[in-house]
Amino acid sequence: MDLDELFKKINDRILTICETCDTFFDYVPQKLFCDECRNKKERNRNRKRRLDPEYREKQREYHRKRMLDPEYREKQRKRGRKRRLDPEFREKQRGFACEYQRKRRLDPEFREKERKRSAERYAKKKKGPN
Ligand SMILES: [Zn+2]
Repeated sequence: MDLDELFKKINDRILTICETCDTFFDYVPQKLFCDECRNKKERNRNRKRRLDPEYREKQREYHRKRMLDPEYREKQRKRGRKRRLDPEFREKQRGFACEYQRKRRLDPEFREKERKRSAERYAKKKKGPN
């Protein structure tokens, strides 16, 4: 495809050029980035959000409020059950959990923390309750 043809297609709204990586993709209204860049952006945004205490607090607050609504609570409960019964979902969750555990085990900082925690727990147990 030569350049003229390309530009014609862009003008005719058949193709769009990605604003970040200059890849061409099929025209979709309001879509400025190719799928790859969009996913990357989305991932970055999610990561930032996860690390933002203010955002997390807001999410928690929102969830707390929503949970006061019996209808919403019922919906959440049903969704949770459905997902728990879904073998694919369970398999995936297990994969995540394993990966997480594996990473943690390899992290010296985590191991140090765990060691301290179990030492504290042990000391508490030895002293007995209160
Ligand atoms: Zn792109």
